[in-house]
Amino acid sequence: MAKTNDEQFKNVISHAKEYGFVFQSSEIYDGLSAVYDYGQLGSELKNNIKAYWWKAMVQMHENIVGIDSAIFMHPKVWKASGHVDGFNDPMIDNKDSKKRYRADQLLEDKITKYEKEGKTDKAAKLQSDMDAALTGENLSELKNLIEEHGIACPISGTKNWTDVRQFNLMFSTQFGAMAEGSDEVYLRPETAQGIFVNFLNVQKSGRMKIPFGIAQIGKAFRNEVIARQFIMRMREFEQMEMQFFVRPGEDKKWFDYWKIARLKWHQALGTPENKYRFHDHVKLAHYANAATDIEFEFPFGFKEVEGIHSRTDFDLKQHEQFSGKKMQYFDNDLNEEGKPFGNYVPYVIETSIGLDRMFLLTLINAFEEQDLSTEEKQDSRTLLRLHPALAPIKVAIFPLTKKDGLPEKAKEIMDTLKFDFNCMYEEKDAIGKRYRRQDAIGTPFCVTVDHQSLEDNTVTIRHRDSMEQERVAIADLEKIIANKVSWKNLLA
Ligand code: ATP
Repeated sequence: MAKTNDEQFKNVISHAKEYGFVFQSSEIYDGLSAVYDYGQLGSELKNNIKAYWWKAMVQMHENIVGIDSAIFMHPKVWKASGHVDGFNDPMIDNKDSKKRYRADQLLEDKITKYEKEGKTDKAAKLQSDMDAALTGENLSELKNLIEEHGIACPISGTKNWTDVRQFNLMFSTQFGAMAEGSDEVYLRPETAQGIFVNFLNVQKSGRMKIPFGIAQIGKAFRNEVIARQFIMRMREFEQMEMQFFVRPGEDKKWFDYWKIARLKWHQALGTPENKYRFHDHVKLAHYANAATDIEFEFPFGFKEVEGIHSRTDFDLKQHEQFSGKKMQYFDNDLNEEGKPFGNYVPYVIETSIGLDRMFLLTLINAFEEQDLSTEEKQDSRTLLRLHPALAPIKVAIFPLTKKDGLPEKAKEIMDTLKFDFNCMYEEKDAIGKRYRRQDAIGTPFCVTVDHQSLEDNTVTIRHRDSMEQERVAIADLEKIIANKVSWKNLLA
């Protein structure tokens, strides 16, 4: 029988734990809510996703460079960015269960429910009413909508709600000795500000000419009130962000460019096209003149994975004002084009993707329970159809048996391949069982060393998806594997 989305999602979560991809943080102490650890295979997969992004954004673009800025920043940064005053979520409490919810999230869930029930008119009306209330920061209207649509607390089942209030999402901590004079600092809620404050450092030291981009990958922290759906919404997570600095007036062109380029990056992984969609924002943040989300169809509905924002010159201008330092670019090219040259504050297009959400999406997409039953016997396998470039282990190497010099030969092969590929050696269990275990962790190739290998220096290579095996020369292995795991397959 076909599994429901809910069952499938639960299977992905337990698979992620069983095979060492993701663990709950501090699990032996019953966990810490909305914080997760990546295990031995999860950290490899995460690194490979990072590498794919870095390759595509930084190394494939001559005019984009990468940085790694600190998590701690001067407290004034968050004043300038608007986070101290405005990084709030509208929250509502249920008086009976004492549980706190994001008001807009309760309404979003209702919209999804209406859509599932085919009540598209009702869904669209609620969406536009909610957008209007959020745009106008009309908190009492958000409460009205919750009441009007009969939304009950999932825990208590009652509709006994408090008023909607704003709640700041930043974590703060003490900087320096805990004594007098110590300052409150924040754990950054986004990586973008580390790029903005370094705009001139990078532009000058790298002699960057507009248009150019600065990218970085790093941790961000948000005290999310509702944390659900596994690693979808965490309190500590990782972002991969790129700020692209352009001439004022060219922002629209570059916004459209990055919209297409980013979707292409996602789709290169072979995800079915209908699993992705753009969600253009109607309600724009105060700093933006255009914004869209790239959404993926998770088992719990279409949700944002990446945001692309045209942020105007808001951030750099704010930092000019708060730091008293000029954040301007001297555009010599304008002079050469015959236009009066001058200084200006560049406009910015931002692409911001959540690494953990990308990780979840990748696992969900790859996870497959395959029925291999024949008339004679029932059989099945679980496999992760990961793109070979992303797979945590590229090649598993097995001696057919534990004797006759086969382990030594297998290790010899491993010693030549391990410089370029993440390899795993396994000699326990029957060969079929070893193949299945590699299928479950997404290893694209298994190499088996048998007695013939000792005679003619050939091995079998078994392909994960087709389960086909072919006999190849040991000398050709490196080329065969390199060809399949190359970034070229994704980026050319
Ligand atoms: P959401 O509306 O889902 O809270 P957001 O619009 O606040 O997301 P941005 O501030 O645009 O998100 O951050 C960019 C990306 O960072 C998001 O597209 C998402 O992939 C990721 N992200 C944001 N918050 C979290 C979180 N709490 N846990 C994991 N990833 C997150």
